Amino acid sequence: LSYKQQIVKASFRLGLLGMLRHAAGKKPKYAIICYHTVGNTGVPFFCPLTAALFEKQIQFLKQNYRVISLSQMLEEMQSGLSTSPAVVLTFDDGYRGVYEVAYPIMKKHGVTATTYLMGKSIDENTVAWYDRIFSSVLNPATLTVRFAGKDRVLPDREAKLTLAAEIVTNLRSMPDQGRIDFCRKFENEYPVVLADLQNRFMTWEQAAAMSRDGFSFGCHTMTHPVLSKVSPEKLVAELSECKSLLEKKLGSACLDFAFPFGRLAECVSQEAISSLGFRSAVTTVYGTNSAATSRFELRRLSCGDAGTIEEFAFELTRAFLGEPAEEPLGLPNLALQTENARA
Ligand SMILES: [Zn+2]
Repeated sequence: LSYKQQIVKASFRLGLLGMLRHAAGKKPKYAIICYHTVGNTGVPFFCPLTAALFEKQIQFLKQNYRVISLSQMLEEMQSGLSTSPAVVLTFDDGYRGVYEVAYPIMKKHGVTATTYLMGKSIDENTVAWYDRIFSSVLNPATLTVRFAGKDRVLPDREAKLTLAAEIVTNLRSMPDQGRIDFCRKFENEYPVVLADLQNRFMTWEQAAAMSRDGFSFGCHTMTHPVLSKVSPEKLVAELSECKSLLEKKLGSACLDFAFPFGRLAECVSQEAISSLGFRSAVTTVYGTNSAATSRFELRRLSCGDAGTIEEFAFELTRAFLGEPAEEPLGLPNLALQTENARA
C-alpha cells in the first residue's frame, strides 16, 4: 500500500472519516456521482469497478448520506427545503453492465439512478467512435500504430490501452469534422473487431424495465461528439433527436442531459440546452452542488473509480468538506458558436 492508501485505510478504521463527515455539517450539499458501468458484462474496454465493490459503495452511501433521485435533488434545489447532504447516482452512456450488474444491486438496496443514454448506440446495438478506436487498437492483428508522426510498437494490452486512450484524448480537442475524418481513415488502416461492437449497450427493453422500477433516463446525444466542437445545427440535431427517441421508446419526458466527456472545455452554456426543453445538465467538472449552482452546470464526482471502499469514502468526505461549486463556469453560448462557425 502507498503512504496515502495507508492513511486513508487507517482513518476509515478509526472512524476519523465519520468525524469529518460530521464537521462537514448539515448544510445542504449535493454530490452527484458519475459512473459508467459495473462489472465485466457489456463493458467499455476497461472497467475497474467490480460488482462487490459497487455494492460496498452503495451500502456506505446508505449508511452515511441520503441517496436521492436527480428529480428530488432538482426539486430541493428549487424549493430550498433540503435538510442535509445528499448523493445522487448517475451512469453515462448506457453500457449493458448498468442493467445486468448495477441495477439489481441498486434495486436490492432501494436506491435509484439516472442513466444518460447515447441514442444511436442503444438503437443500433453498436458502440460510439471512441470505443471503436479502442477496438481498432486492441484488435489482435494490430501490432503497430502510426500516430502523431510516430510508429508505436504495441507489445501487450497495457500498451494498447494507453495508446487508445491517448488517441481519444487527442481527438477530443479536434474540430468535429476533423475528428470524424480521422476516425474514418484510422478504421480503414486498423480495422475494428466486429464482435466487439455489439451487445455492449443496454437494449430499449432493458431500459424500459429499469424505468418501470423508478430508474430515470436522460439524453447523452446521438453519437457522443464533443459539443463545444460541433456546429449549432449539429448540436440541435444531436440533442433533439436523442430526446425524442428516448421519449418515444420509454414513454416518458426526457428532461435531463449529460455533456459527452463533460470537462469544462467540452461543454456549452445553458441557453443551448434549456432552449431544447431540458431542465438540467451534468458536467464532469469536479465539485458538489448547492441550491445556488446552475442546474445546467451541475458538477460531478468520479469517486466510483476509486480502487477500494476506503478511498471511495475518503474522496466523498473530502468533496463534502469543500465548498459547493456556485460560480458560473463561463461556458460559450450557442450564439457565440454560430459566430465562430461563420468566421
Ligand atoms: Zn459519455
